[in-house]
Amino acid sequence: MNAFDYRRPQRLTEAIAQLRSDPDAKLLAGGQSLLAAMKLRFAAPSALIDLQDLPALNLLHEDGTGLWIGAMCCHAKVAASPLVRARAPMLAALAQGIGDQQVRHRGTLGGSIANADPAACWPAGVIALNGTVCTDRREIAADDFFTGLFGTALEADEIVCGVRFPAAGEAHYIKFEQPASRFALTGVAVARSPAGVRVAVTGLGNGIWRWRAAEQALADDFAPGVLQGLCVDPAEASGDIHASAEYRAHLAGVLTRRAVQHIQKISA
Ligand SMILES: Cc1cc2nc3c(=O)[nH]c(=O)nc-3n(C[C@H](O)[C@H](O)[C@H](O)COP(=O)(O)OP(=O)(O)OC[C@H]3O[C@@H](n4cnc5c(N)ncnc54)[C@H](O)[C@@H]3O)c2cc1C
Repeated sequence: MNAFDYRRPQRLTEAIAQLRSDPDAKLLAGGQSLLAAMKLRFAAPSALIDLQDLPALNLLHEDGTGLWIGAMCCHAKVAASPLVRARAPMLAALAQGIGDQQVRHRGTLGGSIANADPAACWPAGVIALNGTVCTDRREIAADDFFTGLFGTALEADEIVCGVRFPAAGEAHYIKFEQPASRFALTGVAVARSPAGVRVAVTGLGNGIWRWRAAEQALADDFAPGVLQGLCVDPAEASGDIHASAEYRAHLAGVLTRRAVQHIQKISA
């Protein structure tokens, strides 16, 4: 690992100033992706700007009719929150299913969505629930935030402050896990609200993807049967040593049907 400076700002404005003054600096949340990337020399920042002393990024509260989850909230905090369990149980379950205890206590919502790993769970949840990503300078709709493989709409010096989730309706996230890491080999988040149905698929390999054909079919009739004739095109997926593109695409169909079944059951 290369040498780097370590900074620990006490205010958001200080963090922004530090980031702007050093284009090679990087923000540090829980280090669950960044430190591994540094150890492997995929990243060599000149400085780490640690966000852990910024309490404003660690808030979790009701926001109008929805929820606000600060960027520095770790997965364990979200999973254990009675508010999240009551208002958006899908998010609590999604957070509880991430990695292991250590990862859940260090990894954060902000780090996960800024990293935009194509097999990560949070991006699917944020897109399915139509969350709004709030940064130090603007609000970005989930559909515009994720731009592909490890890609987001964030500027190099932009800080995610948190995500606002509208009142959820009913939603479910289900993943077929990569057994070693618990990342999604394929994962599907389905949400139904008065605004419509959203189906977000993670793990296909090219970034988080909305399955519009399934959304359309489910908007007309919210039942697993309407998905029988629908398949994800394997061209939307990629293969690796863990699973072929065809297998991942097949899983997307199976998991979407199971998520719909689950939502039907909980709303009956
Ligand atoms: C063994 C293991 C298993 C895992 N299993 C899963 C899993 O099952 N599902 C899953 O979804 N994830 C999984 N993860 C990922 C984990 O949940 C973390 O969320 C993810 O690695 C990001 O880590 P972090 O929050 O510590 O961010 P960091 O590693 O600190 O940062 C990641 C990136 O985001 C940037 N960043 C951080 N915070 C902000 C911010 N507020 N604004 C702008 N940029 C920011 C950093 O500069 C960096 O580029 C796993 C990780 C490990 C190590």
